[in-house]
Amino acid sequence: MQVYVDGHFVPAEEARISVFDHGFLYGDGVFEGIRVYDGNIFRLQQHSQRLYNSAQCILLTIPLSPEDMQAAIVETVSRRELPNQYVRVVVSRGAGDLGLNPHLCRRPSVVIIADTIALYPAHLYTQGLELVTVATRRTPAWALDPRIKSLNYLNNILAKLEAQQAGALEAVMLNGEGYVAECTADNIFFVRQGQLYTPSTAAGALQGVTRDSVLEVAQELGLSTAEGFFTRYDLYTADECFITGTGAEIVPVVRIDGRTIGTGHPGPMTTQLRQGFEQLCRHSGVRVSPHVTCAALA
Ligand code: PMP
Repeated sequence: MQVYVDGHFVPAEEARISVFDHGFLYGDGVFEGIRVYDGNIFRLQQHSQRLYNSAQCILLTIPLSPEDMQAAIVETVSRRELPNQYVRVVVSRGAGDLGLNPHLCRRPSVVIIADTIALYPAHLYTQGLELVTVATRRTPAWALDPRIKSLNYLNNILAKLEAQQAGALEAVMLNGEGYVAECTADNIFFVRQGQLYTPSTAAGALQGVTRDSVLEVAQELGLSTAEGFFTRYDLYTADECFITGTGAEIVPVVRIDGRTIGTGHPGPMTTQLRQGFEQLCRHSGVRVSPHVTCAALA
């Protein structure tokens, strides 16, 4: 397995960045997680856009044009030679000194890893997952906009630890006002009387690529959708609930804080949306041939 590091492909075990990199020292950087299905890179354009938007917000100039970045991702995926992959793209501030000053970091580091991932055990996709609400609140948008997908995940990690201590695999995170924001690395949806709801990004949710795709699939299926501000009451009394993310994909949720959701089994709309999403993943995206080579790369 080869990893892309600053324009070069190196064997995974030899891939290195500096201990002075501010991505390591301070979590100063941005990243994306991208899926490849049957040799098609899913929503490459949207992931690339979000990466560049995140970088723009933190005054980080990615040392590649978006076209060269996409070419580098395609090349990394084609070298991995697996039909289904999970790709991690990381752009960190680069090596500086031990102080915070980003201006002392001369060149951002770019790393692309094409591997696989399984975030949840397979049986949960058919039986459903249990969530718990945790005390750790989502960082408010006025402190750090949740649309910035930064390398600093401590807020989410603290919530994940709390969920695990309570015996659950994933947490419901509320914002400072008590509205449901999202989970630690996933967006959350619920269904009530045939309508699909998800917290608005203004409530503290990342604008997930999977979230957008699910909303699209729902609209194609003729379901009505709404984004807004919801409390735990809305989750507890929902007919169905599920979470979405690139790594997790779509996971049905059947219990939240000890309350059984709907019938306690994955609901029909969740199943329908999962099927529609699977179709979308298999039949769209940027096709990667294992023979692609990219002139822009060293
Ligand atoms: N929320 C957070 C905090 C995330 O880190 C992620 C990505 N893992 C998501 C939601 C889901 O986003 P996407 O569908 O783009 O992967």
